[in-house]
Amino acid sequence: MADHNFNMDNQWLPFTPNRSFRKDPRVFVGAEGMHFTTHDGKQVIDGISSLWCVGAGHNRKPINEAIKNQLDTLDYATAFQASNDKAFQAAEMIAAMAPGDLNKVLFCNSGSEAADTSLKVALAYHRARGEGHRNVFIGREKGYHGVNFGGMSVGGLPANRKVYGAQLLPRVDHMRFIHDPVNHAYIHHEEPVWAEDPLVELETRILALHDPSNVAAIIVEPIAGSAGWYIPPQGYVKRLREICDKHGILLIFDEVITGFGRLGVNFGADFYGVVPDMLNFAKAVTNGVIPLGGVICRDFIYDAMMNANAPDHAIEFFHGYTYSGHPVACAAAIATLKLMKEENLFARAGQQGRVLGDAMHSALKGLPNVIGIRTLGLAGAVELAPVAGLPGKRAYDVMLDCFHKGVWVRAAGDNLVICPPYIVENSHIDQIVQTLADSIRRHA
Ligand code: PMP
Repeated sequence: MADHNFNMDNQWLPFTPNRSFRKDPRVFVGAEGMHFTTHDGKQVIDGISSLWCVGAGHNRKPINEAIKNQLDTLDYATAFQASNDKAFQAAEMIAAMAPGDLNKVLFCNSGSEAADTSLKVALAYHRARGEGHRNVFIGREKGYHGVNFGGMSVGGLPANRKVYGAQLLPRVDHMRFIHDPVNHAYIHHEEPVWAEDPLVELETRILALHDPSNVAAIIVEPIAGSAGWYIPPQGYVKRLREICDKHGILLIFDEVITGFGRLGVNFGADFYGVVPDMLNFAKAVTNGVIPLGGVICRDFIYDAMMNANAPDHAIEFFHGYTYSGHPVACAAAIATLKLMKEENLFARAGQQGRVLGDAMHSALKGLPNVIGIRTLGLAGAVELAPVAGLPGKRAYDVMLDCFHKGVWVRAAGDNLVICPPYIVENSHIDQIVQTLADSIRRHA
């Protein structure tokens, strides 16, 4: 076991192989800009924005200052039957950034809470309009919407569900996964074109089976992030909107990854030119520094829940978290979004995304076991042929090897994903991609 002065007996690490981790721990004790410092004094480049969060890079003084000031001013106040100035200000900024009439922000603390909140809003909205029978949810295979029961149920990553047996939401269905591993193995900043309409199955099978008038909402990530950056075919997102409109179904975009600049614009909704009915966010909104998530709802949803005939003391939505709209988290969001704007970081993400995509396609294509590369925005995945009988092992081993060489990339199934902070320089991209190439060669 590596030398260290902390006791690893008590923390049970999430989404981590705990036994092997303890033999070869990856422990961060400091961070600055693009880099972490590990417990054994190594510098490691953050090639994944610490799970898609740290858009502006680590240890940004304006965000830190805003948090410290907030602690000294108003440390905490409940959001139930009261609020705080920072929550209103953050909501105003977020609504101004969101497209269309996505204007009403329900705060929570994470992407998982955002997923479950949005599903509950959908049910409550339909009931408020006398359509309580609309209680079917449709997600997508390989979708990830966090780990709470609602998000897990509409999610489509088998590993996250199977150990829980049948303890999932009833009346959930999934669209098929939209990826053609043969014709669309290599995608570089374009949307794959499909000969057939990939949503025929939604209309002819899933909606027909449930009867569209029973369906409350369809929830998708505009781009499947956690599964390994799978990019939808041209027109897919627009077609989803059309189908939802036709049948009175709410469309929820889970933009926990694609929101706040990853695609070079504010949201995936802007990238695809489609306004969903709800938009879920978390992660980059505070640069990852303090937990904050939320659901942005279109005006008509909020309006439908405000019953003018109800008595004054009637609560309109029985949902909320003790820390909803936490002033310190909202202060962090205000400072983050200001900083992103001042430094024009979303546009920079778009620009550096081109550099990353070019580098990945030129350095990784043709290497042993590489069977696909998909890049769009400031993110890319390289897919490796799995070791027979051990899915995910090769990618995991490559991830470990990269880490030992000072580069943190993410293993997602058989994919390795790179999604650096928006401040990434060309030299960092070179280092990340070349290190990954070396490790892929070593694991041939
Ligand atoms: N939705 C999406 C699309 C995500 O990528 C994630 C996190 N990777 C979540 C939800 C869950 O977020 P959290 O881990 O903050 O609960």
